[in-house]
Amino acid sequence: MKKEKMKETILPESRDAAFRDLVLKTPVGEKIPTCMQCGICAGSCPVSHEMDYTPRQLVRMVQMGLKKEVLNSNTIWICTTCFSCSVRCPRGIRPTELMEVLKPIAIAEGIKNKNAKFDGIFSDVIKKTGRASEFLLISKYSLSEPSMIKQAPFGLSLMAKGKLPLRADRMEDARELEAIFRAEEKKPDAKGKEAQK
Ligand code: SF4
Ligand code: SF4
Repeated sequence: MKKEKMKETILPESRDAAFRDLVLKTPVGEKIPTCMQCGICAGSCPVSHEMDYTPRQLVRMVQMGLKKEVLNSNTIWICTTCFSCSVRCPRGIRPTELMEVLKPIAIAEGIKNKNAKFDGIFSDVIKKTGRASEFLLISKYSLSEPSMIKQAPFGLSLMAKGKLPLRADRMEDARELEAIFRAEEKKPDAKGKEAQK
């Protein structure tokens, strides 16, 4: 099992009961109070070393209503939705789905960080082309994130080896896909309106 990083003590005044209740009322929230902090989810997670809080910690933070820390954490964006935590949790808690519940709340709250930005650009590229075009993804993200300049030599070496084609792959007809996205965006939950109540 991977060792979890030590964190600073979170003060009780950052608790937000309304946020906790909002998450607990969602379909994934019902079992969250039963978490016994066994850490199986954190030990199963292939990307927990990149997260500022492991899935185990995030579940506990939701139980405590630590809204600011939960919504600002990179954990919800780093998750690859591999479902390892959800299938292994002995209490039937589904941390994978919890991340998907938290994302629209974070967006509705105006949380901005580079992980959220990458997620937004990735969704836009998929919406417009129907493909995870590496060229479009990297070029759009690089334009919006100045720290990406450090990756320029790596990108150039990939291009030189033909690993990063300078073209945007597109599906034949992306209109149906766009219609699916549009329908989803019209749902109140997708815009996080529930979160703002
Ligand atoms: S595996 Fe389930 S019960 Fe164990 S810490 Fe993770 S969420 Fe909690
Ligand atoms: S679904 Fe996300 S949080 Fe769960 S194990 Fe996979 S990457 Fe980690």
